Amino acid sequence: MTDCLFCRIAEGSIPSKKVFEDDATYAFEDIAPRAPTHVLVVPRAHVSTLAEASDEALVGRLFLTAARIAREKGLESYRVVVNNGEGAGQTVFHLHVHLLGGREMAWPPG
Ligand code: 5GP
Ligand code: ZN
Repeated sequence: MTDCLFCRIAEGSIPSKKVFEDDATYAFEDIAPRAPTHVLVVPRAHVSTLAEASDEALVGRLFLTAARIAREKGLESYRVVVNNGEGAGQTVFHLHVHLLGGREMAWPPG
């Protein structure tokens, strides 16, 4: 989708700080980090929300990519979050997994 921010970031037409990429996923640093490590992992294919997602392998890939990045950064404890819908804090409607780490995490999240 040409009018989708994360589609454009994944294709490279809007710049980002790349952390990882493969054929199906693209990972980059969040522009407003909420933790010392705050990486977003997105599918290259446009999917607006987790609720809309149907490709099990792709959703699994997003989470395993987050775990791989955490391992490569030497993080043992970290949080992986998907905000689904405005009420849960989703602001960009292209599915993304947040990888947050490098500080203590409170539970439950706000
Ligand atoms: P959401 O609130 O939808 O779960 O997460 C969207 C995330 O995207 C936020 O953490 C926000 O800081 C990040 N974000 C929004 N616009 C941009 C951008 O242009 N570049 C990058 N790297 N991150 C962005
Ligand atoms: Zn998109």
